[in-house]
Amino acid sequence: MLDGLRPISTAACPCKICGSPAPLFGVVDFHQSCADIRGVQFRLSGLPIYYRRCGNCSFLFTDAFDDWSHEQFKTHIYNDEYKLVDPDYSDLRPRENAGAVARLWGPLRRETRVLDFGGGNDTLCTALREAGFAVAVTYDPMVPQYAVRPAGKFDLVTSFETLEHLPDPLAGIRSIVELTAEPGLIFFSTLLQPADFDRQRLSWWYVGPRNGHVSLFSRQALTLAWERHGYKVATLGDNFHFAFRKLPSYLAHLQPVLAASTPQSCAA
Ligand SMILES: [Zn+2]
Repeated sequence: MLDGLRPISTAACPCKICGSPAPLFGVVDFHQSCADIRGVQFRLSGLPIYYRRCGNCSFLFTDAFDDWSHEQFKTHIYNDEYKLVDPDYSDLRPRENAGAVARLWGPLRRETRVLDFGGGNDTLCTALREAGFAVAVTYDPMVPQYAVRPAGKFDLVTSFETLEHLPDPLAGIRSIVELTAEPGLIFFSTLLQPADFDRQRLSWWYVGPRNGHVSLFSRQALTLAWERHGYKVATLGDNFHFAFRKLPSYLAHLQPVLAASTPQSCAA
């Protein structure tokens, strides 16, 4: 039994991104996870978790955990069994992402101050420091040793596989923006709803309350969320994204990558 779940309302709630009505969309068991497709399956919990989808921007979210404290998230989701549903969290993913950042930044790394938002165990920043970045700092409110918000602003803020975990994604984006220098760049990942989402609905593998995936973006929702701060979003594939107000001149070498990836429309 989970304590503190928000009671279900059949009325439409305001979308967490654009405020438009978001009616109930579907329901899954609390133990549905992103590892189901790898054959890692928990027994059914018997706890229904309802998701809502915005009629305007197609943002998909659950408000079931909106009243939880960090401690409740740690007890019920980010606990010892979390590694079973996200086995790449602790090492493989941060090392791969650090390699991508180091390749993109090239020689500029020696002058670049990096903050990793939601960086978990500091593996990514450790790899960046080893790769020669001037500064690489982890900030993760869920991990006690990295929960103190660092002072100052950073040329590059990374945030890999974080936004989908945030019950208040606009607050998270606001925090990221506040920590970003101007000009500066944010390099982040969160998987966008696929073209055939209307067919897959909540059987889409990325819908996993057991993983803490509570906020699932359409392309339009992601664009709207960053536009509030005057940021453009350029997307590489459906998972990796850059956000920036104005591309820093020292990152002009990234212009071809970003131009090729900026969406022509906001179709969800
Ligand atoms: Zn919306």
